[in-house]
Amino acid sequence: MITLALSKGRIFEETLPLLAAAGIQVLEDPDSSRKLILPTNQDAVRVVLVRATDVPTYVEYGGADLGVVGRDVLIEHGGAGLYQPLDLRIATCRMSVAVRDDFDYENAVRQGSRIRVATKYTGIARQHFADKGVHVDLIKLYGSMELAPLTGLADAIVDLVSTGSTLKANRLVEVERIMDISSRLVVNQAALKLKRDALKPLIDAIASAVPSSDVAVTA
Ligand code: ATP
Ligand code: MG
Repeated sequence: MITLALSKGRIFEETLPLLAAAGIQVLEDPDSSRKLILPTNQDAVRVVLVRATDVPTYVEYGGADLGVVGRDVLIEHGGAGLYQPLDLRIATCRMSVAVRDDFDYENAVRQGSRIRVATKYTGIARQHFADKGVHVDLIKLYGSMELAPLTGLADAIVDLVSTGSTLKANRLVEVERIMDISSRLVVNQAALKLKRDALKPLIDAIASAVPSSDVAVTA
């Protein structure tokens, strides 16, 4: 049995076409089913639904053989014990710094003020501000980061941005882009050895379905 860990939402939806290219169809819709283990058209392959932040943990400890996880989550986790063969180029967005539209971020940075930053991504935020030599007090949140600058909890947030419409709706502006984010395939290293005959063709099929920007498309 091969177990693939996915999180509901964007990652699940955008992984489906890659699985289809490998001949795998998930037989139940996670939005209408309450099941956490979803069968596929292949008896030897199943999907488990876990929180996005739990995907690396499941794969690391062998609760799943492989999984799909955002670069954001992977960096925060550390990636220890995970084989990362592929950038799937799905669920793309960026990690950014945002502030209230009336907060003078450039000036606060220039003056060397201590900045209060609220984020779920404390590892990425700490590294980013350390690299810039900016002093920050980090406040760990688990969601609704946009609220922090509006309530005075923080001066800035570090969060994922895709279209920017959530920021805009909350009078926030993006002042720095930290990194581009996409989702990656992660594989349990022991499983890759023990189940290589089943996993290698699956990984290769998924790889060939990923649109490559390195290949020049001519004619
Ligand atoms: P949960 O909703 O279970 O609390 P979560 O919000 O971290 O967890 P999702 O919203 O499902 O998880 O996001 C999963 C992944 O999707 C993120 O880790 C990120 O890599 C990717 N993603 C892409 N665009 C966005 C976006 N605009 N906002 C949030 N995540 C995004
Ligand atoms: Mg979410």
